[in-house]
Amino acid sequence: MTDHREFESEMLRTALRQLDHVAQKLGVDPDVHERLRHPRRALVVSIPIRMDNGKTGVFTGYRVHHNTVLGPTKGGLRYAPDVNLGEVTALAMLMSWKCALMGLPYGGAKGGVRCNPRQLSRTELEHLTRRYTAEIILLIGPDLDIPAPDLGTDEQVMAWMMDTYSMTQGRTVPGVVTGKPLLIGGSAGRREATGRGIVYVLYQAARMLGEEIRGRKVAVQGFGNVGSVAARLLWREGAIIAGISDLGGGIWNPRGIDVAQLERHVAEAGTVVGFPDTDRLTNQEILEQACDIVIPAAVASQIREDNADRVKAHIVVEGANGPTTLEADAILRDRGVTVVPDVLANAGGVVVSYFEWVQGLQYYFWRESEITARLQEVMTRAFNRVWGVATKEGTDLRTAALMEGIRRVAEGYKIRGLYP
Ligand code: NAD
Repeated sequence: MTDHREFESEMLRTALRQLDHVAQKLGVDPDVHERLRHPRRALVVSIPIRMDNGKTGVFTGYRVHHNTVLGPTKGGLRYAPDVNLGEVTALAMLMSWKCALMGLPYGGAKGGVRCNPRQLSRTELEHLTRRYTAEIILLIGPDLDIPAPDLGTDEQVMAWMMDTYSMTQGRTVPGVVTGKPLLIGGSAGRREATGRGIVYVLYQAARMLGEEIRGRKVAVQGFGNVGSVAARLLWREGAIIAGISDLGGGIWNPRGIDVAQLERHVAEAGTVVGFPDTDRLTNQEILEQACDIVIPAAVASQIREDNADRVKAHIVVEGANGPTTLEADAILRDRGVTVVPDVLANAGGVVVSYFEWVQGLQYYFWRESEITARLQEVMTRAFNRVWGVATKEGTDLRTAALMEGIRRVAEGYKIRGLYP
């Protein structure tokens, strides 16, 4: 893809380096490898909307399908000021490996609109979402490509997308997006899915290392959808949640934080900062405290070459996408830290999205206990497969997870052949 300058981005260069490394290790056929490096299709659209001040604003949007070899494509929609074609393409590629690793019948996709959603009114956001959906409508559908929320988008954005698509079809089509509100076809347990998935893989990791979660000291960076659910569930299981942070900063109490009380504090104060009986830390310090497990669940590139040496935990579970840089990853590996990689650890969201899609196609909805039991089964199976590959090949868990995902997609290409 280096010959297409419009795809240039640091994130895509990193994704391609990972792919090349793993494809070589797997001995992927060079023709298939070349196909894996390119997205199947990428659409760039302009989105003109009437702003609240009566003027017309024009935004740029993207939707990229990386591959469709295992089924329709699946991936989030991101609203962010710096989103670009290269980033969306890299994220679509990573979705391909993630879906294949988890055994889901999907290829990877991603979408984005370059905007700052916090500076748009609700009406502007609705217009933007509906016009974006209309512009990419040829590329989406329940058996074609199924968007979901990502950074800067939520259940409401998915409801507008579903409604816009349904209006053009003259009937309600719940299966066109996932992450919808429960009332219009969302799934029980979708909101908690990623945090819950993290806990399931952490359980397996601890079991393999011969440890227990109960009594272990945990630090969580980020107290949003992912971090707060993971912290609450681990706290209920008897882990000591010693540190938590959010955009406002971090808090620390080595004897443990009552997560239910903290949630009430955050609901009032808007941040974890100021919670009684805790010391104040920065977002960086939270990663470097004396504890057993660190869960970065906020933003990318938090564990880097300059601080990886100071991470004292011996287990890192990546809730966020890309919280560890490639350089930091090598440092942690050399120090014997077990890193459960993002592609596996935070896959609970896409797994329950798959359940939501299946329920929508059948108009038959499952109880939350069924969703939770199935999620646990899928996460545990995927973890054990990755652990098995890592043990057999003598690699770290990230390489093993990518090997497992990329191998499946490559095999799919091989079996289906090259058209025409
Ligand atoms: P969210 O917006 O609900 O929460 C993000 C949290 O991180 C908030 O507490 C926020 O204050 C904090 N934060 C933001 N910027 C920060 C910074 N610079 N330093 C420290 N903390 C910061 O988001 P989320 O849905 O919990 O997602 C968190 C991460 O997990 C993202 O990287 C996302 O891509 C990834 N992820 C989320 C899901 C999902 O289902 N929500 C699935 C897979 C991956």
